[in-house]
Amino acid sequence: MASPRIALERVRKAYGSYVALDDVSLDVRPGEFLTLLGPSGSGKTTLLMAIAGFVRPEAGAIRIGDVDITRLPVNKRNIGIVFQNYALFPHMSVLGNVEYPLLLRRRPRAEARERARAALARAQLAGYETRDIAALSGGQRQRVALARAVVFEPRVLLMDEPLSALDKNLREQMQFEIRKLQQELGITTIYVTHDQREALTMSDRIAVMNAGRIEQLDAPQPIYQRPTSRFVAEFMGESNIIPAALVEPFGSPPPFVGTLVIRAENLALEREAAGGDGVAINGRVAAHAFRGESWHLRLTVAGERDLLLSIPSGKSLDCTGIQAGQRVTAYAAARHIHRLDDGPQP
Ligand code: ADP
Ligand code: MG
Repeated sequence: MASPRIALERVRKAYGSYVALDDVSLDVRPGEFLTLLGPSGSGKTTLLMAIAGFVRPEAGAIRIGDVDITRLPVNKRNIGIVFQNYALFPHMSVLGNVEYPLLLRRRPRAEARERARAALARAQLAGYETRDIAALSGGQRQRVALARAVVFEPRVLLMDEPLSALDKNLREQMQFEIRKLQQELGITTIYVTHDQREALTMSDRIAVMNAGRIEQLDAPQPIYQRPTSRFVAEFMGESNIIPAALVEPFGSPPPFVGTLVIRAENLALEREAAGGDGVAINGRVAAHAFRGESWHLRLTVAGERDLLLSIPSGKSLDCTGIQAGQRVTAYAAARHIHRLDDGPQP
């Protein structure tokens, strides 16, 4: 059975006077891995739970394929869910947890057992069937939750920050495992995270959320390289937002107008290292730190907020000799300068 699209049309949800979802429209393509990315409180969980049926919107429509599910009860939606806290049954074995959705759907016990075993094997948990949930590590619990979410072959998979409790290495490993499983199943998936790196790593497209709205919806590279709003530029890692009046052109770049965005890793301390014609910004070193793969520099720039630089430590310039208070010039090539449409004009 082909995976369906998911369509939200002006979905609205308020808690009292607080608007958690502000007329959100979204089209998730069949088989797509779409991530809702945003800070805490931006409405990610509310949006996911509206699709799952645990949150009832005041207005708008939600469709899976051609079916309007806006008023369908949770158990009729055929959606696999991995909740933020896994929500496993602690008194049941691993197998018991994964069989449960099938028994709930009145599948015969033998079939349920067979399919649960297959789902566990797929989630790299063959041999763990009789274990207690309490005896599992965080990563193993996460895999059980994933197996339980897909065992009944749902049409759609929803995951709410499933990796937030895991340490960094395991989290990165699980990002690839989840993505691989999702691709093997070809299941339309909405994934929630507040971690931009995780979103960039896993997604076909990312919807950046802010205050109950989707600020930008795009593939990982455009989201990172061409943010359309100040919020997205600031949320996606280290970006500098600079009025054009503050920069001096060098070489023969096109004219710069309006508010510019330059990522920290696209600034260099040498003209040649910037990689082409562009802009120069004078400043003074306010702070510098060695971060392993890079040097981090903060420059004070005339009357503006600080400029952040990330200089690869393996490349030409050695920043060991940099002193606080030192005057330096930061350079960026024209192709790394992105114009912001909604920023205030200088
Ligand atoms: P996120 O998952 O992005 O952190 P949520 O969707 O959980 O955000 O919450 C969005 C906003 O709605 C938050 O300000 C939160 O406090 C509020 N909120 C969420 N659930 C409820 C609720 N049941 N009652 C009142 N306010 C809620
Ligand atoms: Mg949440």
